[in-house]
Amino acid sequence: STQYDVIIIGAGAAGLMCAATAGYRGRKVLVIDQANKPGKKILMSGGGRCNFTNLNSTPSNFLSDNPHFCISALKRYTPQNFLDLVERHGIEHEEKAAGQLFCKDSAKEILAMLLTECEWAGAEIRMKTSVKSITRSAGDFRVNTSSGTLTCESLVIACGGLSIPTMGATGFGYEVARQFGLTVLPTRAGLVPFTLHPELKQQLAPLSGVSCPVEASCNNHYFREPMLVTHRGLSGPSMLQISSFWQPGNPLTINLLPERNIREDLESLRKQKPQSTIAQYLIQHLPKRFAQTFSELHRWEGPLQNYKNSDLERVSETLGQWTVKPAGTEGYRTAEVTLGGVDTRQLSSKTMAALEHPNLYFIGEVVDVTGHLGGHNFQWAWASGVAAGLAV
Ligand code: FAD
Repeated sequence: STQYDVIIIGAGAAGLMCAATAGYRGRKVLVIDQANKPGKKILMSGGGRCNFTNLNSTPSNFLSDNPHFCISALKRYTPQNFLDLVERHGIEHEEKAAGQLFCKDSAKEILAMLLTECEWAGAEIRMKTSVKSITRSAGDFRVNTSSGTLTCESLVIACGGLSIPTMGATGFGYEVARQFGLTVLPTRAGLVPFTLHPELKQQLAPLSGVSCPVEASCNNHYFREPMLVTHRGLSGPSMLQISSFWQPGNPLTINLLPERNIREDLESLRKQKPQSTIAQYLIQHLPKRFAQTFSELHRWEGPLQNYKNSDLERVSETLGQWTVKPAGTEGYRTAEVTLGGVDTRQLSSKTMAALEHPNLYFIGEVVDVTGHLGGHNFQWAWASGVAAGLAV
């Protein structure tokens, strides 16, 4: 048959979740995807162990031009709901950082669970199928694909964002939105490493591979998580988080010792051990290689007894408010997510349907809802997928 109740374009996190939910309601569901395998991003997520949700996820963990939009779906399908599903499938998991749940073994288990759910719900999945065009006649959608023309009553767009084009990411979802008159808000790479200007890159090169816990801030957003220096620039959770709030030209402010009162520390050290150096102080709190290279870079030489109060003030400022102006980001090539997308003002927050086209739905990353790092993006994929799956 070529007639379905529901066709979902995109066999990723949101699409598979939506398919199982709709299938269990007795809807005849087909998922199509141009890739050779479903759920590729699930497999590569969380370093291969999929950070599948975050127990502390709240709407404040999401960026959107319309911040209230995500509340309804997230409230109706919670991290606990997804965890219950994971546990029903006997998948072993562990909490890494606060609230971040990962598979103990492999992300493959989450994908297998979703595919099993789709199978039990009777939802069909057809891979290696690309969409040539979508038209609408007599209420139904006609989806012209590489394997023939299909028709459906409800069409769900779940084809994700632009990040990692080598994994099959395309802007197709945005094209469909525009075709039906919806606004697509400007997109940009989020949760992405920063690149540096050549001089700083060269100065930091000896630190490649070193990670330290910092507090990074930009545009009044703060993240206290590790920073990793790489051969290309700055990465690690704090940098990925802050990248979602960064605009070209903005400086980053990095507190290298967020747990310390640096000025007080240095003054008392100068009093108690006047012979000690800044590098010796830093070694107590930062990786040795970082402490030494950073001190050399700033020419913090000689014993603390030679430092005047104004010198200590300058050192404390550099350590507490190290200002870095990134050259840019690595872009969609390595970004975990795409910010922006289908404007949520034109969607129902309850069902994810387009207000002007009630049987056309947008779910997951293609929508202008983007989570912080730490399992929030999958939680949005699950929650928006379920919201649409219950409505189609
Ligand atoms: P996707 O999962 O991207 O699925 C979209 C699907 O649509 C794909 O299968 C694609 O092939 C298909 N498609 C695209 N274009 C077309 C087309 N034209 N025709 C047909 N099909 C098409 N989030 C977390 O919460 N925790 C993590 O641990 C985590 N780790 C990540 C690690 C990496 C390296 C990356 C890149 C992302 C990570 N994310 C993580 C983010 C998360 O993967 C996404 O937010 C999530 O996959 C979005 O789900 P989605 O279903 O909207 O899109």
